[in-house]
Amino acid sequence: MTFLKKLYSILKFKCPRCHEGDFLEGKVYQFSKMGKVKKKCSHCNLKYEIETGFFYGAMYVSYALGVALGISVWVLQLLFLPDASPMTLFLAIVLSVILFYPLLYSLSKIIWINFFVSYKKSNTSK
Ligand SMILES: [Zn+2]
Repeated sequence: MTFLKKLYSILKFKCPRCHEGDFLEGKVYQFSKMGKVKKKCSHCNLKYEIETGFFYGAMYVSYALGVALGISVWVLQLLFLPDASPMTLFLAIVLSVILFYPLLYSLSKIIWINFFVSYKKSNTSK
């Protein structure tokens, strides 16, 4: 169940502690606010940047997501375009990484904070 609670927070981009407040300042593909995380939760006041540079750790998650995306594109290419050249595969992976970059960037941050903050049902205190 803990996994499902974390998945809810991740997929909805909600506060990992209360699931009420928004995690991002804007939308995922809103380029002016791309990947910008709010200072704290509007509902439970959880400070999102737990310590200075906290979200640097999200680059490990971002790397894993990028590799998963590359493998997914490779498998799709094997299934639907088995005769495509390696250059086509390379371009498809580069294009998919560019297209999904805003999503991966935001996802990596919310996944990272979910490693450290757990859901608490009725926590509305500061
Ligand atoms: Zn909250």
